[in-house]
Amino acid sequence: MIAARNIHKSFQSQDVLKGVDLDIGKGETVVLLGASGSGKSTLLRCLNFLEMPTSGEVCLDGKRVGTPDAGGRMRYSETELCQLRQRVGMVFQQFNLFPHLTVEWNVMIAQRKVLGRSEAQARERARYYLEKVGLAEKINEYPARLSGGQQQRVAIARSLAMEPDVMLFDEATSALDPELVGEVLQTMKNLSGEGMTMLIVTHELGFAYNVAHRIVFLHEGTIIEEGTPDEILVHPKSERTKAFLRGHT
Ligand code: ATP
Ligand code: MG
Repeated sequence: MIAARNIHKSFQSQDVLKGVDLDIGKGETVVLLGASGSGKSTLLRCLNFLEMPTSGEVCLDGKRVGTPDAGGRMRYSETELCQLRQRVGMVFQQFNLFPHLTVEWNVMIAQRKVLGRSEAQARERARYYLEKVGLAEKINEYPARLSGGQQQRVAIARSLAMEPDVMLFDEATSALDPELVGEVLQTMKNLSGEGMTMLIVTHELGFAYNVAHRIVFLHEGTIIEEGTPDEILVHPKSERTKAFLRGHT
């Protein structure tokens, strides 16, 4: 469904991604693990072009994003990137809801502005996805009156309402109080069970073990190990993976 082909990303002189290849099949849930600074967020951001890869390609549904110029450098049109970002939803650690809009309007606004849906249609979709994340009764609340877990579920509903083909989650539960983590993980687990294609960065290893079809371990900008949850979390081969897991017990 979505693939990274030999993605490199540098900031000034720092090479953060050093040739990442990753292929996520339709309906697959992949968890991306790695130490702080290993490049996890940068990889997710390259996959939906919040960051431009320095080189390499992103493919969606087998089709390459962008066109190489005469020098072989990839060029991307704004239209193309706009379309791509609709197809690749992203959920961040910070929910970034609009404080002056109700929950329902938070989920409607991009549908109206980006997809050009009618108000009635946007409202119907908003209610559908808010119900899915268990917030049907909160549609008229303002974000400040919700718990962090509820706010994050609104952010997930907002992303789902764009009806993306792939969802990227970057530490979606890291900013939450421990007692609120479970409800957001459950929402993600439900999505996975429904066959959403997902790439998830998380430190919740129990969740990763239970939900991931595959786990990928990133070290200093390179994928050094990948496999089933058992292979990576129970029987890791790489010393780096072992050291990472020791730090998470
Ligand atoms: P964490 O687990 O702490 O979130 P991460 O694996 O997500 O870490 P990244 O945020 O991808 O790591 O950062 C990887 C490296 O790239 C870090 O050294 C970071 O300082 C650097 N970096 C990331 N974004 C930028 C940027 N916009 N400009 C300069 N350097 C950046
Ligand atoms: Mg990060």
